[in-house]
Amino acid sequence: MKTDVLIIGAGGAGLTAAIAAKEEDVDVVVLTKEYPTRSQTCMAQGGINAALGNVEEDSVEAHIQNTLKSAHGLANEESVRYMCSEAPATVAWLDSIGVCFSRTQDAKVAQRKLGGASAARACYAQDYTGLKILHTLYERALSLGVEMKNEKILLELLQDGSGLVCGALMLDLRSGQKESYFAKSVILATGGYSRIYGKNSTNSTKATGDGIAVAKRAGAKLLQMEFVQFHPTGLKNSSILISESARGEGGYILNSEGERFTNELAPRDEVSRALDAEIKKGEEIFLDIRHLGEEFINEGLPQERKLAKLYENVDPVHDLIPIKPVAHYTMGGIEVDNNSQTNLEGLYACGECSNHRVHGANRLGGNSLLEIVVFGKEAGVNAAKRAKSMESHATGSAKDDFLEQEFSHEVDFYELREMMGDLLYNKVGIVRCERELREAAAFIEETKKNLLRMGAKDKAQRYNTNLAEFLEFRNMLDVAEVVVSSALSRKESVGAHTMVEE
Ligand SMILES: Cc1cc2nc3c(=O)[nH]c(=O)nc-3n(C[C@H](O)[C@H](O)[C@H](O)COP(=O)(O)OP(=O)(O)OC[C@H]3O[C@@H](n4cnc5c(N)ncnc54)[C@H](O)[C@@H]3O)c2cc1C
Repeated sequence: MKTDVLIIGAGGAGLTAAIAAKEEDVDVVVLTKEYPTRSQTCMAQGGINAALGNVEEDSVEAHIQNTLKSAHGLANEESVRYMCSEAPATVAWLDSIGVCFSRTQDAKVAQRKLGGASAARACYAQDYTGLKILHTLYERALSLGVEMKNEKILLELLQDGSGLVCGALMLDLRSGQKESYFAKSVILATGGYSRIYGKNSTNSTKATGDGIAVAKRAGAKLLQMEFVQFHPTGLKNSSILISESARGEGGYILNSEGERFTNELAPRDEVSRALDAEIKKGEEIFLDIRHLGEEFINEGLPQERKLAKLYENVDPVHDLIPIKPVAHYTMGGIEVDNNSQTNLEGLYACGECSNHRVHGANRLGGNSLLEIVVFGKEAGVNAAKRAKSMESHATGSAKDDFLEQEFSHEVDFYELREMMGDLLYNKVGIVRCERELREAAAFIEETKKNLLRMGAKDKAQRYNTNLAEFLEFRNMLDVAEVVVSSALSRKESVGAHTMVEE
């Protein structure tokens, strides 16, 4: 199949890119391994940042300074300035296409304060912000005639002899057939890699870093992969997120003695380190929102109450919520320039799989939903312009023929996947040391060597989820390898990367 702009991934970044490209009057096809409504974007709760000043005084400059401070000197100021300056117009656009933001008494978009922000800046739709944004973008993309194809798994990029990217090799989950899609421009919008931490993550099982692994195998550069954000308030037994909005609205973090021991509204790297230190002392940690009252919780934090009841068997109106820090967001990703273009000609990237150098060593809550829309648009427009400038499609093939190899199935990859998640959580987590990073690196190296002894035991042609999960595991290993090697290379402690002697 041929199209002008091919987008892999239908979360907020992919759909915004699709809308922007389609509005440039080119043909756009979006492929996704699940359904758009199952992306991480749908799970976002707390809000999207924009210095609107609707509930207290705020400015774009303050947003820029807060973002730069939280990034610990590792963001690019020009990119941060661009993103924060675009934020008010971005929220206005989302509002105009139908995102039902919560409102203040005087009908302005409501805003709440999140960690590391000097003002109430996160615009929200109760605690369902991402869900409302995603559904609205999806409807908009469909109404513009964007072609959506679900249950298509990215295997590799198609490249010509010079490395130029001219399409993607996909596996159709429904038929089990490989399919080649040729395009004048390709955009990767495949999300982050928090699931390399297995069950110790707020993300869905599908956040396996596929696009990053595929891009790396094709020769794309990756940037700052060691920076993984641990969110302080995952539910203790399931890792499901209790949104930062709970603290933004006034929630406390308590230890077993019922004492507050950290500034709940400090940036996440700081709060997670404080929790980690208490847990290592043997303390249990809790989130307390009881004092906010039932009426307020039902109106402002309805999802958090439901999640705590369902997954932790506690009612936040009456009970403390047991929590622990878990992998939540990945700052690292595919390196892009100021046009969202990677180092490979024809290949663009946006969203959590990319690194636009706006988060540096630690992302601020509310800045990811902003990033995916601001840079999703940029990627879509630039990919469309490139497509319009080309007369014909290039041809090429995939560098890799992984699925064509013989697999012996002696080793259960599910067991290794679980081991890797726990190993990374314990040794490549909030606090790291060289010895443990080397242990993790050795595990990954050994497991990669054994991939041919694994494979999908299920030989079904149609809907072979065992095969899909094996492909994801391979990608997770490729990504985890870079996370650990980047962590080993960065000797100093900065933001989400804390190094100790032992
Ligand atoms: C629980 C939770 C709450 C959050 N709350 C907030 C918040 O309040 N504010 C904020 O700013 N950020 C928040 N975030 C972060 C934010 O939601 C994400 O960073 C952002 O939505 C990522 O968007 P994306 O489009 O890049 O990726 P995603 O939304 O993850 O979409 C990725 C897409 O790529 C597809 N894909 C992946 N691999 C393949 C493949 N191999 N082949 C084909 N398709 C593929 C997926 O199916 C999916 O469609 C939260 C995250 C989580 C997990």
